[in-house]
Amino acid sequence: MSYDNDNIFAKIIRGEMDCLKVYEDQYTLAFMDIMPQADGHTLVIPKEAAETLFDLSEEGAAATIKTVKKVAEAVKQAMQVEGVSLVQFNGAQAGQTVPHIHFHIIPGSLAEARSH
Ligand code: 5GP
Repeated sequence: MSYDNDNIFAKIIRGEMDCLKVYEDQYTLAFMDIMPQADGHTLVIPKEAAETLFDLSEEGAAATIKTVKKVAEAVKQAMQVEGVSLVQFNGAQAGQTVPHIHFHIIPGSLAEARSH
């Protein structure tokens, strides 16, 4: 499937759309979700143009999971929770709405976050 350069996260990476950035390095970006399922809900994305996990390079995957770990640790500490949920959808059938791969970092229980 071809990558849509006009998707929201591509625009955020290019600086054409605002976001509340919490971490950035050469390969990845982390920012607050605009419609959080719980306080502290953060998204991590690679800067590489990849729609899903299946499109992401090995290097991009390694850099992304490294940032996911770093940001999840920061979220755990900042939100003072014992558990942190990671959610990641690949493809519309799975529930992906923004066609640029992203990891959700959600403090606490996912079921509890979704019941609110
Ligand atoms: P998905 O269902 O694709 O896994 O989740 C996409 C996520 O991106 C949703 O949680 C949604 O709230 C978030 N989102 C969509 N548009 C924007 C935006 O413009 N800015 C930010 N920060 N988050 C967004």
